[in-house]
Amino acid sequence: MYKIEHANIGQLTTLRIGGSAEQLFYPSTPEELIGLVVELQDRSIPWSILGGGSNLLISSKGVAGAVISTAALNWVTRVSPDAVLVGAGAKMPKLAGQMAQWGLSGTEFMEGIPGTIGGAVIMNAGAHSQTTSNILEKVTIFDTQKAQVLTFTASQFNFGYRSSNIDPQRYIVLEAKFRLSDGMPDQVQDKMKQYRRQRAATQPKGFSSGCIFRNPSSATPAGKLIDEMGLKGQKVGGVEVSIIHANFIMNTAGASSQQICSLIDKIQSKAWNTRGIWLQPEVWGMGEFEEEEKIIWLHPELRSKSNAQILAS
Ligand SMILES: Cc1cc2nc3c(=O)[nH]c(=O)nc-3n(C[C@H](O)[C@H](O)[C@H](O)COP(=O)(O)OP(=O)(O)OC[C@H]3O[C@@H](n4cnc5c(N)ncnc54)[C@H](O)[C@@H]3O)c2cc1C
Repeated sequence: MYKIEHANIGQLTTLRIGGSAEQLFYPSTPEELIGLVVELQDRSIPWSILGGGSNLLISSKGVAGAVISTAALNWVTRVSPDAVLVGAGAKMPKLAGQMAQWGLSGTEFMEGIPGTIGGAVIMNAGAHSQTTSNILEKVTIFDTQKAQVLTFTASQFNFGYRSSNIDPQRYIVLEAKFRLSDGMPDQVQDKMKQYRRQRAATQPKGFSSGCIFRNPSSATPAGKLIDEMGLKGQKVGGVEVSIIHANFIMNTAGASSQQICSLIDKIQSKAWNTRGIWLQPEVWGMGEFEEEEKIIWLHPELRSKSNAQILAS
């Protein structure tokens, strides 16, 4: 198994923010990954899973213990005319491209989402009114508390808007099975091209984690709300609210986690104080955050230093 000491994990995320982990591992099979996690747990070494790093904010202070990348677990295997088994580390656009070649429809929405299948299942990634859970049939996970590999049908989980009840601190997604429908390769590819064009026209290019906030339950989407509050272009250090899409925060100049957390906090405070709306981050944190950084994951009514550690780890 490939291993890097003092690996700069921040540079492996799409935001390009954050420090190093003591060790970074690239298991090449599920068995290697399981053996590694069991060994780390036996030695009381903390571990975290890194997928595509496209929804992750890494602390500039770094990550204690081991980070395990799923990058090498990237198989896509057709197991029946309309079903595929996909390794947790396969990238969503790679899966969508392969399905187009095979004339299978259902994964087109994954085009342009730079995450892995493991991350897509955990976050119930979606776009264009479709979600991962819509096409998911089964998930094989490693339950790190019971030290057991288990396969569940998708209906055994609770999937919601950009959420699931699969806790990535306990369960590791190893493989997912998707049920797709017949499509003509040209038509599938045309749909993907259309989605690609839409993204290019509406989303900024550069270092970001996509939408930084979940859309609130009120009618106004987060991006529109931030725009209405006049915060487009707002900067803290090397981070900036995109002027193209206000729900994107761009790292334009080697920013730190303190700077992005400070900008997120400013936006959240304005939304709460002027509109009574809680803008909950869509991005997840990994690593050792300062108290004033952790508060971004706390509802404004719960913000106190003692509570802050609950959500960001
Ligand atoms: C330009 C851009 C556009 C985007 N557009 C969209 C969009 O349209 N729709 C959308 O939903 N999202 C979008 N995203 C966000 C992101 O791509 C998704 O949330 C994606 O599902 C994250 O997957 P990942 O593999 O990158 O996860 P990571 O960021 O690596 O990890 C996220 C969390 O999942 C955990 N995790 C990852 N893999 C596993 C695993 N195998 N087992 C257990 N836990 C795991 C990690 O530990 C972490 O807690 C966008 C991001 C960018 C940068």
